[in-house]
Amino acid sequence: MGDLVTLYYRRNRGWPTPEDSYGLTPMYGADGWCRGCGVSLREQTGSIVLRSKGLTGAQGAWIPYWRTNVLCMQRSLGEDLAGRFGLRLRPVVWPRQAPGEAVQVLMPVVGERWFDPDELRRRTHLRHGRDGVACPTCGTWRWLPLRLVEQPPVHVGPELAAAPIAASPEWFGDGWSSFHKLLMVRELAELIQRASPRDFTVEEVPQVYESHP
Ligand SMILES: [Zn+2]
Repeated sequence: MGDLVTLYYRRNRGWPTPEDSYGLTPMYGADGWCRGCGVSLREQTGSIVLRSKGLTGAQGAWIPYWRTNVLCMQRSLGEDLAGRFGLRLRPVVWPRQAPGEAVQVLMPVVGERWFDPDELRRRTHLRHGRDGVACPTCGTWRWLPLRLVEQPPVHVGPELAAAPIAASPEWFGDGWSSFHKLLMVRELAELIQRASPRDFTVEEVPQVYESHP
């Protein structure tokens, strides 16, 4: 078992708004994301705005619809975890009445490359018959999605080994769905899963450690 794991989300809660940007404009600015593929083009600059319909209170932790790289949780849990693991938080904004105070745990892109591109090419071909596509609008390369059991091992460099939570430099996705692979330290993942067992399971991730950067 590696030191880093991922959280698999069992369901989604809360709808990002406005819908015409799938919630991206408040988070990145109107010109901070690509209208061709939905990838963000800069660091997040604003809060996610969530409609609370179907959320059943801002309890525990959860992943909203559409934005699968956005980890939300009730504020008290987020602040506790932020203090213990050195996480960065952003408040979640509600367009109407708030179902409770909530925060987003930011997942910074860490490292230059997690995966061997030859391995990604081989495995995406096996699964999809092709490997990925460069967006004609922004030029970002996205690998076609791979399930956890299909993905090649993550090469863990010193920077990633020291991060409490991280997003892959590589983008994955198809059509309007664009996302990073996510990793976090096991203890953090287990605390989140225990706080929200209906939302998450903790999953092992194949990983190899690079002793020489
Ligand atoms: Zn694009």
